[in-house]
Amino acid sequence: MNLLKPILLLFLFMLSTQCQQEKAPEAVVSKRPDPHSFSRPDEAVTKHLDLNLKVDFDQKILSGFARWTISAKDSATTIVFDTRDLNIQKVTLGAAEKETTWTLAEPHPIFGSALTVRIEPKTEMVSIYYATRPEAAALGWMDPAQTASKKLPFLFTQGQAILTRTWIPCQDSPGIRVTYNAAIQTPSGMMAVMSAENPQQQSSDGKYTFRMAQPIPPYLIALAVGELAFQPVGNRTGVYAEPKVLPDAAWEFADMEKMLVAAESLYGPYAWGRYDLVVLPPGFPFGGMENPRLTFATPTVITHDRALVSLVAHELAHSWSGNLVTNATWNDFWLNEGFTVYFERRIMEALYGKDYTHMLALLEYGELQNELEDLGATNPDTRLKLDLENRDPDEGVTTIAYQKGALFLHFLEEKVGRNKFDAFLKQYFKAHEFQTMTTEKFLEYLKTNLPETAGMEATIREWILEPGLPDNAPKPESNRLSKAESAALGTLPSRLQTARWTSHEWVHYILHLPDTLDAAALGKVDQAFNFTRSGNAEILCVWYEKAIRQGYSPQILPQIETFLVEVGRRRFLTPIYKAFKESGQVETARQIFEKAKNGYHSVSRNSIEELLKNG
Ligand SMILES: [Zn+2]
Repeated sequence: MNLLKPILLLFLFMLSTQCQQEKAPEAVVSKRPDPHSFSRPDEAVTKHLDLNLKVDFDQKILSGFARWTISAKDSATTIVFDTRDLNIQKVTLGAAEKETTWTLAEPHPIFGSALTVRIEPKTEMVSIYYATRPEAAALGWMDPAQTASKKLPFLFTQGQAILTRTWIPCQDSPGIRVTYNAAIQTPSGMMAVMSAENPQQQSSDGKYTFRMAQPIPPYLIALAVGELAFQPVGNRTGVYAEPKVLPDAAWEFADMEKMLVAAESLYGPYAWGRYDLVVLPPGFPFGGMENPRLTFATPTVITHDRALVSLVAHELAHSWSGNLVTNATWNDFWLNEGFTVYFERRIMEALYGKDYTHMLALLEYGELQNELEDLGATNPDTRLKLDLENRDPDEGVTTIAYQKGALFLHFLEEKVGRNKFDAFLKQYFKAHEFQTMTTEKFLEYLKTNLPETAGMEATIREWILEPGLPDNAPKPESNRLSKAESAALGTLPSRLQTARWTSHEWVHYILHLPDTLDAAALGKVDQAFNFTRSGNAEILCVWYEKAIRQGYSPQILPQIETFLVEVGRRRFLTPIYKAFKESGQVETARQIFEKAKNGYHSVSRNSIEELLKNG
């Protein structure tokens, strides 16, 4: 991170030169409520987007215009948008499309360039004509070889945290909400879907139109284009996927409708109309992304035994925590993710019982412990309320926001009782729907609306503002995983013993195999259970990591390499590359990365590049 320092100084300098054109420098800086956006919404703010884009797979660019409806103060003479790596062609005002002047600031490598557009009194519409560049960080351009059919290419966007500005000029802050309509032109034979009302059939001319009537933050504007087909799984739920993947996907996610019903009975009506899911190619960097009305999901959760469907419960839960009540800045990220993990577990409990959910909670508790160990328990990044100013907000995407955040809510539930806590959460979502939330505002709301927490202020502040895990943190337990753990420490378990095991038990079993087992011993385990050829990516990930660290990887290197080349999900890539690095095999890791990196989305590519840089 030393590398960042000179850049930061440059950034601050840019800010200060911008400020000199205005009256009081401090006053202008304070008008940027979000440290990761150049926009000044209290001067002029975006309200609605009409997006019109043509998808060009040959050049890997999107081109067209973003027409913004804005609301500006009478005194405002400019409106500021976030952009990064965009080619801006012209900017016009109003329905008459009168050309106006604009400036694009020197680019900052993380935050991009402020686009400052001169507006007139009473300007209500600003149209920006532009094209993206092939390197646009949000855009995952997949070659046909990276898809299931291998016939047509595929495109998906990933906006969170601050990448939407690389494909749409926008006020890219989670604190700003907009509605949108879009017209997308695709090549023939392809379907476009968005975080909006979606088509269910391919159009003959490749033209698609979309409408998102509820206001959302720009990071939730999303587009996927590919050879897609649709299959309903319930009245309000369905799955999009490549035709080859669709039947398996629809079977895997058959419980979507039940999950939706369970979620509504916990925390109130679903606010978005339909809830569908699109299965992307394996290059998608995340497990899922909660784009409203249409979750984007990795194909690595299709395991033919519904073992990993908690991912759907997670993304669905975001329809309340995150999409309905949104973190105001990325420093408040735990309000999105901690609440969502808690809510996800409650959905899973409603469908599959406590036993099952305890397994998920304990596995994730292990991930939290590892993260705390990696970061160090006094590291400020282990606080729930983060300070990511002048940093890439992607650095805040750690297990802390998710698991420490969820543990805090479990702690509150334990203290005040489930009934009271559920009533509180339901009211919290209702009272703040389509609004943003800061950590401070949440604490205030908690104090007023959950009076049972009176007297707990100090401990609550410790949870939120101090690093590490408080002593009073609940520790999840799971009988089923305890059995798997004992089995790992004894002799090879029998088929009878493991007949009813889920992949969670297998993952836990692998994690607890003694560090002292050498390559020959791991080979015997592999022979017994065939982990190297498992169809479950969670099992493969922990198994490959163990194999690399304990000297068994030379025997199964081709399989590890195939996995790393085919799968682009960062959650799996990071531990495997890290295991190579930490066991003195960084050159092997670098060689594989060279072959694999073109198939990775920038989010994963940048993380792995950073990881392999030194060592
Ligand atoms: Zn999430």
